[in-house]
Amino acid sequence: MEKTLIILKPDAIQRRLLGKIISRFEEKGLQITGMKMMMIPDSLARAHYVSHKGKDFFEPLVSYTTSSPVVVIVVKGKNAIEIARKMMGVTFGSKAEPGTIRGDYAVSNRFNLIHGSDSPSSAEKEIAAFFTKEEIVDYQPIDLSWVYDIS
Ligand code: UDP
Repeated sequence: MEKTLIILKPDAIQRRLLGKIISRFEEKGLQITGMKMMMIPDSLARAHYVSHKGKDFFEPLVSYTTSSPVVVIVVKGKNAIEIARKMMGVTFGSKAEPGTIRGDYAVSNRFNLIHGSDSPSSAEKEIAAFFTKEEIVDYQPIDLSWVYDIS
């Protein structure tokens, strides 16, 4: 089982899309093992997006990310990282395929509703940056054998 960090960005809350987006992960069969609302501090936003430091969109990206609350979620499942990235769609809302979260609800390059970790190593780092160990609750879901075809 893999864990991935999902951030429902400020526009997801301001546009009242939280329920719709969270439902997609639940309906897919992925498990929510941690969830909270928070303001992302400037330093955490800069660290989270450090790979984009120096690019022209970096400062506006930090401003957007810290402008209003976000909901951060730890999502668990087999291949959860790749599945969540597929469900999100490509980065730019205008380019994202219909049926994906960004494809259905976003048109902007920056205001694209959602972040999902892009690899096992970034998932591990990002989860540790946003959650304490105690905030992640590893319960046994009752439908596991039905979701994964295992007995
Ligand atoms: N972004 C932007 N302008 C760009 C590219 C990216 O504002 O030209 C923002 C957008 O919000 C994106 C985030 O920076 O989600 C991180 O970019 P990345 O390439 O890591 O895309 P993601 O992994 O979020 O699809």
